[in-house]
Order: sequence, then structure tokens, then C-alpha cells
Amino acid sequence: MYPPRFRYEAPRSLDEAIGLLHDGGGEAKVLAGGQSLIPLLKLRFASPDLLVDINGIAGLDYHQLDPDGTIRVGALCRHADLEHSTLLPGKQPVMAAAAPLIADPIVRNRGTLVGSLCHADPQGDWASVVTALGGHVVAQGPGGRRTIPVADFVSGPFQNALAYDEIAVEAVIPAPRGELAGGYLKLERRVGDFATAGVAVAVERSGGSVSRAGIALTGVGSSTINATDAAQALVGGALSADRIAQAADLAAQAAQPRTDHRGSADFKRQIVRTFVVRLLTRVADSEEKAA
Ligand SMILES: Cc1cc2nc3c(=O)[nH]c(=O)nc-3n(C[C@H](O)[C@H](O)[C@H](O)COP(=O)(O)OP(=O)(O)OC[C@H]3O[C@@H](n4cnc5c(N)ncnc54)[C@H](O)[C@@H]3O)c2cc1C
Repeated sequence: MYPPRFRYEAPRSLDEAIGLLHDGGGEAKVLAGGQSLIPLLKLRFASPDLLVDINGIAGLDYHQLDPDGTIRVGALCRHADLEHSTLLPGKQPVMAAAAPLIADPIVRNRGTLVGSLCHADPQGDWASVVTALGGHVVAQGPGGRRTIPVADFVSGPFQNALAYDEIAVEAVIPAPRGELAGGYLKLERRVGDFATAGVAVAVERSGGSVSRAGIALTGVGSSTINATDAAQALVGGALSADRIAQAADLAAQAAQPRTDHRGSADFKRQIVRTFVVRLLTRVADSEEKAA
């Protein structure tokens, strides 16, 4: 199907883009990688008057590691940039694990992490990863910049917390306060598919004890699920088998899967439990080997 008719603008600066969104009065949409927006237009699920293409704005295609360990991902950093990053391996195991699992190589060449957060698809992988890592989004509008924790930014299925005249300029992953470990596991029917279920786990440890943990779930609810009780069960002690089993049970309870063509609700809940155990056991085993 052809998209409905729209006006197209390709601003060269953020201020110009924000001005266009403001003047659009809620009938304008940002175009980043277009990997979700263009299908929505073609299916006529969205019909904006104006597309504001931000691809011509210089300086948004970065991902960088600050000296303190904070990671910043600009609005035009593609999934493929993160997949082939030389910064992430060894420093950011959760993002490094997720990047090659997003869609297929063609989508990864154009789609962006920030666009994925903005799209807020319950089956979007990055929202779980950034939630588990306690990340936030920096939004810029006519009044300046503000910071929104990603757990609040993704405000519902296909809904985000941006005002109509704001652009998400970067996603920020805070520096870990200890040694960071974890990963991302995704069950898909075939390579390139959206998740049947996905689990992101991030664990920060110092002196053998977990100081912070994050667990977030993909594709098992009407929105990304921040499994805070499961994560909290890990904090304050070592990663023992009992704690791992408790966290896995709590994560499975937090999941709200529906039976569909990808599998039954029970099956998906069991996948969540299995993935949490697998990811945390891997972390615990690597610690034992290093000791
Ligand atoms: C075949 C296929 C398979 C896919 N499989 C997966 C998968 O397995 N896992 C997965 O997570 N995703 C998957 N996707 C989605 C893909 O990852 C998209 O790239 C991503 O969801 C959106 O990023 P984008 O840059 O393409 O955003 P766009 O499509 O350009 O925009 C998406 C939405 O976000 C808004 N937006 C984008 N950037 C900004 C910004 N900086 N500020 C404000 N608003 C913004 C747009 O207005 C639009 O509403 C798949 C897509 C396709 C086509």
C-alpha cells in the first residue's frame, strides 16, 4: 500500500527540526531510520501531515564512552554501528549481546536505538536493554533539554513521553557502580524475527556482592516490563543458586504474556524463567572461574 500524502522537510539543525515540529502542532513526525515509521505509513496506521527527516543533521550519529564509563548513543547511531562497535565488547555486555539480535542486517543498517525507544514497541529489544541498565533519554524541545528515565519514557504500547515538539537526541547508559555483567537472550521463530520472548539482565557487583541489578522483559506484555522485584531479589548478596531461582520466579510472575501465533502464555513465561536462570548462572560461573 502507498502511504498517505505528507509534506517532507529535511532540516540541517536540531533547532530547525524542533521549530518544524512545533509549527506542525502535533501533526508532524520525526523520521530517523524509517524502519518502523515507513511500514506504519504504508499500512496507514499513521498519517502525519509532515515528516521531519533528521538524517541531515550533523553530529547525531555517535556512540561514545565517557571517561567515567557513561555510554551515550546519539539519535542517528544505527543498530549496525552498535553491532560492530569496538567500544562495547568487554565494557557493555548487555548492549553487545543485543545489537546483533535486532531484526536483520538490512534493518540494522538504517534503524536506530533511539528510534526504537521512541517507537516503544512491546517487542522492541532496545527498550528492555536500556531499562535493565537504568538508562535515560535526553529530549530537546523549544524550552531546552530534559532527561527522562527510560522506564518512564516508554509510557505504554507504542507511546513515549515526548511532547509533540521534542526530539530524543540521545540515550544515556549510566556508568556502572561496580563490575558490570549480564546479557540479552531472545527467542525468535527465525533469524530476524521479533521476540517471542526476550530478557535483559544487568548486574553490578563489588566485592562479590550485587550492588545493583536490572531485569527487563521483551514481548511478554503490552509494554516493556521492568521486573523490579526480580532485580531487587539479587541485591545485597552473592549470586547464589537460591537467589537466581527466586529472581527467575519473580520475573516469570512479572511477565504478562498472551497466547498467540508465537506460543502459549505458559510457554513464554517459562522462557522468561529459563532465560533469567541462564543469564545469571553464566554470570555466577564466570565469577567462580575468575576467583
Ligand atoms: C522487518 C523488520 C524487522 C524488525 N525486527 C525488529 C526486532 O527484531 N527487534 C526490534 O527491536 N526491532 C525490530 N524492528 C524495528 C526496527 O528495529 C526499527 O529500526 C526501530 O524500531 C525504529 O528505529 P528507526 O530509527 O527506524 O525509527 P523510525 O522508523 O524512523 O521511527 C519510529 C518512531 O519513532 C519516532 N522517532 C524516531 N526517532 C526519533 C527521535 N530521535 N526523536 C523523536 N521521535 C523519534 C518516529 O517519529 C516514529 O514514530 C524491525 C523492523 C523491521 C522493518
